[in-house]
Amino acid sequence: MNKILFLPLLFLVVSSFISVRNIETKVYICKGKSSKRYHYKKDCRGLSNCSTKIYEVTLSEARDIGRTLCGWED
Ligand SMILES: [Zn+2]
Repeated sequence: MNKILFLPLLFLVVSSFISVRNIETKVYICKGKSSKRYHYKKDCRGLSNCSTKIYEVTLSEARDIGRTLCGWED
């Protein structure tokens, strides 16, 4: 493999991956002790008794930390 060609190619792949992540779906999570869900709506019933700040994260970030979709969402 020619390293001079390989590096710009790698950069392109990485930067396109980052831009895809940037337009990813945003979800909302609560960081209270019993919170295990993520929410599409910030005003969801499942977030109404959240004891902490409501955090905006991407869908993949929410899944990475083991969150599953809230039962109130349609
Ligand atoms: Zn919800």
